[in-house]
Parts: sequence; C-alpha cells; structure tokens
Amino acid sequence: MTHRAMRTLLTASTATQDILNRCLAGNEVSEKDGIILFSAPESDMPAIASVADYLRSKTNGDAVSFVVTRNINFTNICYMGCKFCNFAKRIEDVGAQWLDIDKLVERAVEAWDRGATEVCIQGGLHPKMKGTEYRNILLALKARLPDLHIHAFSPFEIWYGAKKSKLSYEAFLSDLKNCGLDSMPGTAAEILDTEIRKQLTKNKLSTEQWVEIITTAHKVGIPTTCTIMYGHIDGPKDWAGHICKLRDIQKQTGGFTEFVPLSFVHTDSPLYTENPETVRPGPTALEVEKMHAISRILLHRWIDNIQVSWTKLGAEFATEMLQSGVNDLGGTLMNESISRASGALNGQEITATEMVEMIRTVGRTPVQRNTLYQVLETYLHKEPTDYAPLVDRKGQNPLDYLAQEPMAIEQAGA
Ligand code: SF4
Repeated sequence: MTHRAMRTLLTASTATQDILNRCLAGNEVSEKDGIILFSAPESDMPAIASVADYLRSKTNGDAVSFVVTRNINFTNICYMGCKFCNFAKRIEDVGAQWLDIDKLVERAVEAWDRGATEVCIQGGLHPKMKGTEYRNILLALKARLPDLHIHAFSPFEIWYGAKKSKLSYEAFLSDLKNCGLDSMPGTAAEILDTEIRKQLTKNKLSTEQWVEIITTAHKVGIPTTCTIMYGHIDGPKDWAGHICKLRDIQKQTGGFTEFVPLSFVHTDSPLYTENPETVRPGPTALEVEKMHAISRILLHRWIDNIQVSWTKLGAEFATEMLQSGVNDLGGTLMNESISRASGALNGQEITATEMVEMIRTVGRTPVQRNTLYQVLETYLHKEPTDYAPLVDRKGQNPLDYLAQEPMAIEQAGA
C-alpha cells in the first residue's frame, strides 16, 4: 500500500485497524470480523475503502471491465408474490407481457448486430408456462446465433422449470446445458437467511434450495454470478453471513464468476409501501460503499470480480464505487426493465462508448470482457464502435453528471 493509504488506515478505530491489518497480512477475514466492519462508524470508511482498493489493484490491476449485453425479460407475468418485487404482473393486468420465442430471437439478433457478446434472459414464473419453454428458448437462440453467450434463468426459474418438468435439478440443468445454456445469473439470492426470506418471498425458494441449485449448476459445468439484495429488513449480521456463505460455496465449487451487490429499490415495492415503519427505503450511501468494499475484503482470493450495478446506483455513484473495491461495471444492458419497474430511474442502457468514458474519468483502463471475464478488447488508445442507444432516452443522458462536475482523476492506491 502507498504511504497515504497506510496513513488512512491509522485513522480507523482500533477494532477496524486490527481486522484490516490481519487481512493485509494475508489472513482471511472471518464472518464475525465482517459484522464488525459492517457495523464500523462512518469515520472508518476511508480505511476500509483503501484496503478494498488495494486488494482490487492487487487482483485486477488497473483494468475496469464491462460486457456488451442485452437484457431480455421474456415475461413479467408471475404469481409468486415476492413482497419486494414490483416487476410481476397478473395475466389480466395492464402492461402484462409475454414475448414469443421468435420475437426473443429477433431481439437477440438486434443485440448481436450492435456488438453484444451475451444476452441475459430472465422472466417471471408464468403459471401457464411449460417447463420445456426454457430449453426451447435456448435451442432457438443457438440455432440462429451459435456464438452468442446465453446467460439465463435465475435459480427461481430453475426451481420452477425442474418442478414443471418433474426432473431433478441436476437432470434439468444438464439438459439446459446441452441445449446451449452457457452461464446463469445468481439472482433470487436476496439474503440467504430463512427468517428474512420468509418476509421477502414467503420462503418459496429456500436458502437450501438456492444453494442446491447453484452448486448443482456448478457441478454440471454452468458458472454463475452471485448477488445480494440489501437495504430492507436486513443488517450487518445478515450481510456478513450471506457473503461468507457465498465464499464457502466458492471454496467448494469455484463456479462463481463475480459478486454483484444489488441495493433494494423501495419505490413502488409492496415490501416498503405496506410497511414503511419497519422496512428501510434501500441502503444508505455509506452502506452501499461498505457493501462493495467489505465484499472485496471478505471474498479476496476467492471471488476476483466485484461488480457494481449502475441500474441501481446510477452512473455517477457506480463510478465512485471503482475507488472502493469494484473492478467491473457490468453490462451495457440495452433494455433494462426489472429495476425500472421498482422505480429506479437510471436508464436502460449505458453504451460501450459511455462505459469507456466513465472508466477513464477515474484514470483506469477500460476493458471489454466476455461473460467469463476473458478480455476481448482494451481501450487504451482506441474507441469502441459507437452505437446510438437502442431505446430513445427522451433527452436524459446517464453521463450528464460529467458535464456538471468533472471527477478528479485519482490513480489506484497500490
Ligand atoms: S421476484 Fe421474480 S419470482 Fe418473485 S414475484 Fe418477482 S418476478 Fe416473480
């Protein structure tokens, strides 16, 4: 670490300094110490962030990556009734959508023509949907676009598809892999704690089932991401417990590609609107910074990539997280709809050109990656092909903040 970073360490409380020093000496940070870090006072944040930034620089160097992808939600019809969700509609609701497979393929072709290397496909659990729909989507996509990486189906969808098909998770996932499933989003994790899940999702997909589906996916050769949704009825103990559970899975399977903190968006979410006294309206800015930094510290040596979600935080705040342990800005997305449905206002797409611009404002090297974090292009002295946003932004530009207040260029504190 630089002298400046070492001096920052000395500003933290004794308990935080002790944990950070043990971490810098090469020791794994325990769940108990994770709780202490998450509970630390705001004045400890610079020290926590500087250690996270140091670990990030040791692991990822100067590169900040992104993937050119299109998000396709093939249906928002779902009867699971998760309390935090405002994406789901009933069949008769205005705005209920079902995308036929040929239309879905058309959207993927449009994405491919705009440079996408991946499509991310997730949907609601439509009551009339057959379990075979999942394999049919994959077969149709691979028939038309054999080289496009298909990142699809949350563990909740796998639970549903396997149940509908009367197959074990292993048989169902193996079939999907044979049909072209390349990787899976590790969403629907929320907080891996039974009591919290009872309140969020009536525990319909239990912690044990989520873990079983994820580890089975890894076993049959399908890598996944992993996530946390935080800032509602949860706290430090739940966050440290959740991240350490993911670390234990990674030690066992090695199948996680990245960790993605997802902040709870309370606007229009029944979980919040029905219980505004007991449910928090998303994490505070300090909690967001802690989540990115402390997850880097807890997952060091096990999960190399910490991704920030610009759909949840917006481009400006997401870019700030690059100083707190984050090395990946996620996908360009083209059509984001899940966060928007819950009231997030951060747009549907950040183009590759804009990703490169955001990364350069913090003095890092922009890298276009594929889903599995292989480098496809480094934008040191060249620019990506510039595509106009797919969906009309109606005058709103996610990078407007750069025109208002240019960020200082800070080099990584290695
Ligand atoms: S979070 Fe997913 S499974 Fe739950 S209600 Fe919403 S769409 Fe359905």
